[in-house]
Formats: sequence, structure tokens, C-alpha cells
Amino acid sequence: MTEAFAARSAQAETALQAPITSDSQSGQHTLTASADSEPASEAQATDAVTVYSPVQPHSANRISTQNLTDDPRTNLLGLTREQMEDFFVGIGEKKFRAGQVMKWIHQYGVTNFVEMSNISGKLRERLEQLARITPPEVVHRHYSADGTRKWVFRVGEGAGSLIETVLIPAEDKTGSRKTLCVSSQVGCALDCSFCSTGKQGFQRDLTPAEIIGQVWVANQSYMEDVPLTERTRTITNVVMMGMGEPLLNFDPVVSAMRLMLDDFAYGLSKRRVTLSTSGVVPMLDRLGEEIDVALAISLHAPNDTLRDELVPINRKYPLRELVAAARRYIARDGGLESARKHVTIEYVMLDGVNDHPEHARQLIQLLKTLPSKINLIPFNPFPHAPYGRSSNNRIRSFQKQLSDAGFVCTVRTTRGDDIDAACGQLVGQVADRTRRAERWQEKVQRQQGERQLHESVKTRGD
Ligand code: SF4
Repeated sequence: MTEAFAARSAQAETALQAPITSDSQSGQHTLTASADSEPASEAQATDAVTVYSPVQPHSANRISTQNLTDDPRTNLLGLTREQMEDFFVGIGEKKFRAGQVMKWIHQYGVTNFVEMSNISGKLRERLEQLARITPPEVVHRHYSADGTRKWVFRVGEGAGSLIETVLIPAEDKTGSRKTLCVSSQVGCALDCSFCSTGKQGFQRDLTPAEIIGQVWVANQSYMEDVPLTERTRTITNVVMMGMGEPLLNFDPVVSAMRLMLDDFAYGLSKRRVTLSTSGVVPMLDRLGEEIDVALAISLHAPNDTLRDELVPINRKYPLRELVAAARRYIARDGGLESARKHVTIEYVMLDGVNDHPEHARQLIQLLKTLPSKINLIPFNPFPHAPYGRSSNNRIRSFQKQLSDAGFVCTVRTTRGDDIDAACGQLVGQVADRTRRAERWQEKVQRQQGERQLHESVKTRGD
């Protein structure tokens, strides 16, 4: 048992019987919005009232959805297999209990030890006292007509912070996919100029339980009417591409990804778990040392001048260093099953900004020695966004230029437009807890005013 677990278990032993008080017995909550989290519009207000507990309809499986950060019991949801084994060894049990409990949690969606029928009554009682299984609280969910699902979670103490998760289903020749876009931080410090999340500023890192909890809730959303014994794993792909820069919350993200890959949890193949980074070069090398998952790079510009503007971290780690780090990651190819065969390049198409034929030529030059596939993303404008979406014609000819140069180049299908499925959008409307978005909107308005003034002076002069 690690020292942390020993300390935590000891703390839990002395603070036993902490009652879980909650109004979740009804499974239905009212949105107790703080001033910060008031809906931004009437439409949002009507839309955001569905607040429910992430519990299943089986009454024995009901849990508190309150934030239990004062609860000294260990939240088993975020423990990797190794950590779970440490936990059981630490309380004098056999290691194999770890796999049993992980299956109950991640595959059957159980949050109450009483339901773990292959575990003795005595151990279940003990677990009740020492541990808990607490997913993040769902404060809003929306299922789109095209099958896209979106959740807003409240994490942390008190009014907490809001994060979001999007699930996008798709059919292809390999069957049906359910791809979940998972958040790693509350907000983001990197302030990419086209990104809604960046405009909200950074609040805090998510814990492993809060990260894997997003997968847990999405998986269970398909199991609500399925009897316990028939529940299964439904998520086929995970992309760490939601709110936040995952490499700046390294350890919790790696722990959560280990759970995604673990057969006792979600059992996803390495190639179906993708970490997307804007280019934190030193951490990219560390990722290569720690875990074999697919890599995507949010590139968005083919030269440093433009990328400095769109993705400010480029000023610290310019393109040459980033591409070299991506090459090193690929060079660690771990054999047949490895996810490190190529890098996916994400490139958001911004009208008149990065979508010229010259940009495509520069991109071809930049990537010619990096095994890569390119994914063009039509920009999804958000309120006060300073950019527009490139036209379909422009996107198609950009794609053709890259394909003709020998790259596999796809265009992301826009899904879930009716629920604001782009990064950071819904949370941005529900809660802006920093001054950054406000300042940024003021700046955009000021620039618009100056432009108008300039135009009118020019017209008068003419
Ligand atoms: S694009 Fe990603 S890294 Fe950039 S601000 Fe948005 S969330 Fe952060």
C-alpha cells in the first residue's frame, strides 16, 4: 500500500459513518445556479433545467450526487488497477479483489457496494466505511437528433466548476463507433484565439475520477434500462480533446487513460484512445515514456508567424520542435499493436486566415517527414468569435491539395450543431467564471467599433 493510501485509509477508519446527505433520493435536482452559472439566454434557461443524478433506475444503485470532497473515504472510481490492488492489499485483502470491484464499477456501472454480489457481506460493509464510488454530478444533458450526446458536469466543492463532455456516434465499415470527447481541465490556460474554452481562462485540473467519470456516465447513459447482469461497455473510442490541455494535467490524464485501456475497466484498444495536444513538447516526450496511445496534434497553422497568433504556446515550442517531438513519439513504435503508427494533425479551417493554397503548400512541406493523417475541422463559430468558417469549396480544394500530395486527409463531419458540440461552447454559455472572456469580448467589440469608425471616416473622405 502506498503511503497516501495508508494515510487515507487511516483517516477514513477514524471518520467512519460520515452520513451521505443528499436530495438525490428522488434522482432529480433543481439547478442551484450561482450567479456565475446563470443561463445566458432564455433558450439556455429552458434547455438547462434538466438536472439529474448520474444514477441508474435501480433503486439500490442510487447515490448521492453531492460533491463529497470532505468525505475522507477513497473514491475508487479514479484508481488504476495497480492503485486498486494497493488499496486492497492495504486493508488486508487479496489483490484479485481489485479486478472484481473494477468490473462492478466500470462495466456494470455500480456505485453501491451492496450490489457487488461476488464479494462477501463483511467486505462490502468494510468497503462502505472506507471507500466510495462517486462520479461527477451531471447538471445538464442534451441528446441531439443526430445521436450526439452532451453532458455538463459540476465538479469540486460548493457551487463547483462546470466541464463538458460530448459523445459522437458514427457508422463506418468497421461497424458503429461511439467516440467520446473528454475534458481534462476546467477551462484552459493556453488561450488559443479560435477556442471557446480558452476564452474562459483556467480554473483547475481535473482529478482521475473526474476524468474517467465522464466515460463512466457516457457509458451508463446507454444502460439505463438494461438489467445489471446484461450491462456492457458501449464507448468504442475516447479522444482527450475536450476542455483543457491534457499534457498540462499529466498524471491524472495518464491514470484515466490507463483505466480506458484496462480490460477490467473499459478495455479499449490503444489505437482507440487518442490524446490531443496543442504542443507541450517536454510533456510529449514524457507521454512517450509512460503510455502507448494514439496522438493528435492541434496544429491549425503551417508556419510559426500564424501559429504564434492562433496557438500562443507556439511561441514557447515552435513548429520545428513540435514536429521533432511528434517524430520521437512515433519512433517509439511498440510493435504490431502499437498506436504509434502515425500522428493525426488537427487543422481548424478559418475563413481567410489559414485556408489559402499557400498554407496547404506550407503544410505539405512541414509534414513531409512525419507519418501523419490530416483532419480538417470546419470551424464552429461561437458568440463573439473573431473568425468565420471556411466555405465548403475552400475546404474541399485545401483537402484536394493535401490528398494530391499523398496525405490521407479527411474533413470532420460537423455533428451536434444543435447542441453546441464544439469545444467549450455550452459551458461557456452556462458559466463564465473568469474575467478573461469578458475582457476578450470587450476587445472584439472595441475592434469592431474602430473598424466601423474607420469605414465611416473613409466613406466621408471618398
Ligand atoms: S484549443 Fe485546446 S489548448 Fe487551445 S485554448 Fe482550447 S482547450 Fe486550450
